[in-house]
Amino acid sequence: MTAAAAARQILLRLTEVMASRMHAQAKLDQVVEIIGECLSSEVCSIYLLREGMLELFATRGLNQSAVHVTRMAIGEGLTGAIAQKVETLNLAEAKAHPDFQYRPETGEEKFHSFAGVPIVYRERAVGVLCVQHVEPRRYEEVEIEALQTTAMVLSELIANAELIDEEQALGLTAEQSGPQTLTGLTLVKGLGAGIAVYHQPRVEITQVMAEDIEAERQRVYRAFDRMREQIDSLASQAEFGVGGEHEEVLETYKMFAYDEGWSRRINEAIDSGLTAEAAIERVQQHTRMRMREIDDPLLADRMHDLEDLANRLLRIVAGRFGTAASQGLRKDSILIARNLGPAELLEYDKRRLKGVILEEGSLTAHVVIVARAMNVPVIGRTKGVRTTIREGDEILLDATAGNAIIRPLPQVADAFQARFAKSREKQAQYAALKDVEPFTRCGTRIQVMMNAGLRDDMSALGLTGADGVGLFRTEFQFLVSATLPQRERQTRLYRDVLDAAGDKPVIFRTVDIGGDKSVPYLASEIAAQDENPAMGWRALRLALEREGLMKIQARSLLEAAAGRSLYVMFPMVSEPWEFDAAKQVFDEQLAFLRAQKKLLPERIHFGAMLEVPALAEVLDMLLPRLSFLSIGTNDLTQFLFAADRANPKLAERYDWLSPSILRFLRRVMQTSVGSGVDIGVCGEMGGRRLEALALLGIGYRRLSITPAAVGPIKELVRKVDLAELTAAMNGWLLSPQGSLRDELAAWAAARDIEYD
Ligand code: PEP
Ligand code: MG
Repeated sequence: MTAAAAARQILLRLTEVMASRMHAQAKLDQVVEIIGECLSSEVCSIYLLREGMLELFATRGLNQSAVHVTRMAIGEGLTGAIAQKVETLNLAEAKAHPDFQYRPETGEEKFHSFAGVPIVYRERAVGVLCVQHVEPRRYEEVEIEALQTTAMVLSELIANAELIDEEQALGLTAEQSGPQTLTGLTLVKGLGAGIAVYHQPRVEITQVMAEDIEAERQRVYRAFDRMREQIDSLASQAEFGVGGEHEEVLETYKMFAYDEGWSRRINEAIDSGLTAEAAIERVQQHTRMRMREIDDPLLADRMHDLEDLANRLLRIVAGRFGTAASQGLRKDSILIARNLGPAELLEYDKRRLKGVILEEGSLTAHVVIVARAMNVPVIGRTKGVRTTIREGDEILLDATAGNAIIRPLPQVADAFQARFAKSREKQAQYAALKDVEPFTRCGTRIQVMMNAGLRDDMSALGLTGADGVGLFRTEFQFLVSATLPQRERQTRLYRDVLDAAGDKPVIFRTVDIGGDKSVPYLASEIAAQDENPAMGWRALRLALEREGLMKIQARSLLEAAAGRSLYVMFPMVSEPWEFDAAKQVFDEQLAFLRAQKKLLPERIHFGAMLEVPALAEVLDMLLPRLSFLSIGTNDLTQFLFAADRANPKLAERYDWLSPSILRFLRRVMQTSVGSGVDIGVCGEMGGRRLEALALLGIGYRRLSITPAAVGPIKELVRKVDLAELTAAMNGWLLSPQGSLRDELAAWAAARDIEYD
């Protein structure tokens, strides 16, 4: 008999039993008979979890008097080991296994071979199904698969008949349900508490047995086609768009998506009578078991990819395309994802999103910048996420310390709330600084501006007392739209932003799309050209060639600023002519509006971002054309070090306080002395305290930073004596040993300056 036929026979008979009106116990009694018979096994037993113990619920072949008497703790004996590890055992000689335990009341001494599979409900073992045989033999793969299929059917029966206490089941083992702490890299500081929500929710399998096998087969075929299309299109977009789905991963995805063996095994499971969903899950369970046996870290990574893909296939089959954002957050939530694109994060309801845990992620990836703008704490590069966190688990995220407590004990939750309250108090102290002007101890006024990108961000201007918006990332509007934002919509946004800013300046940066900022309506064009999008056709390069896009934005900005001052900044300028070309687009639009007798902006200030190191070499040529220059340290760092800012493997590798960056920035500052051009920094660097100190120490007097950092940086500024700091910096930069982090930290500590 083929594997499918054997399993199918069992399933057919099980279907009859399940459909009958028998009591649940009677059904279990029948189930053990059917399996024992079909697998020619002398013994078949079902253990279910009751009051934290595995209890023998039904048996064929062992003493009936042992039913509801024999009980085992999780981890005890072979059965307990299967439940604890949620894995299958297949032993020719049970007694030889170190976990073997003899239970005299069962009369099992004469049986040699043993095979058992966990009965899994909501990803946890709630019981064990096992078979035993007098002859010492290993059960065949076919038989094991039949057992696994049966276990799936049983989990459905068990859930419907309420045979297990769900609470109990969920409280299975300390490891699976007790408190756990995961650690990661701090990406956005802060505290947050909520329930775990997976960005791509897992599909719960509600129907295991198929009514129409052919129909199920067609569903799986269609789902495979669709999944392959998706993977191909992701692969053709390389890293663009989906953040973490880097090439290597995509290659693996592709390999699995086209793997004949995988689709064949799913098909065989359908042949045995399972629904498409159950077939995918059953094959996945089996693969998990095989992978665990191999125990190779490289394979574990691959398993991660296969899990992703199987989950994707399940979602396609079940018609669950949306992410958790499309279903809406119902409670305060901590979002969990392998990685996210900035636009994907923006789809979440800001009021309920209390934190993000990423398996990948890096400090200057745009999704992290967006999270910072949304004031949502984030940790990244977190290990063990999927095996530890289950949808709905309570999580306390301490992104400042870089950890998350899953399923905390009440005392821990209380202590966390106390810290939360303290941090709110600290926030209140910072808020109290909003009307205090940031003068240094020596009396120099430092411009502390904030970065923004959404209409909502503007409220932070009043709350923090920032001096204005030093970087308004206009592309955020492009990122959240399904289509290119029309002129009216752009104008409305810019006007609202200027209204909200009142007298304070707002520096609008023209669109910087490309790189890790994906827009669906341009993705195919960008993808077709770029192998390395961060260094590719993005920002000004793209805008100058899509002149329509730049023209519309120029007109929108000019109209929105009618009668007031307009600050326009161009991103990723690499050579002076690019600045000229971009400015010309504005000049033409200005001439057009003038001809139309429209009200024009009172004054227009044009500036450039210095993000590409090459520009530093020709600054003398560029400066006379500018009214201001803003250094984008996020991109600048990635280009200086040739280290992709979105690559999680490089996330911690280079330090902003390394001499190469600081000397570079100091040289730029020195070059511009006397030019009359206002110079500032608008990358994430300026929002971190030690980094801000370093920038002040090499001559920077304007920082544009994330709103949450405005309070802390103002407080810091007020404690600094610039002459003293500059002398120290110059000294350290003369012959640095490496990063200046320790030196700056000691300097700050000696002056009672908080520096995290
Ligand atoms: C930068 O590169 O430092 C910057 C401010 O721009 P963005 O992070 O949006 O690329
Ligand atoms: Mg940039």
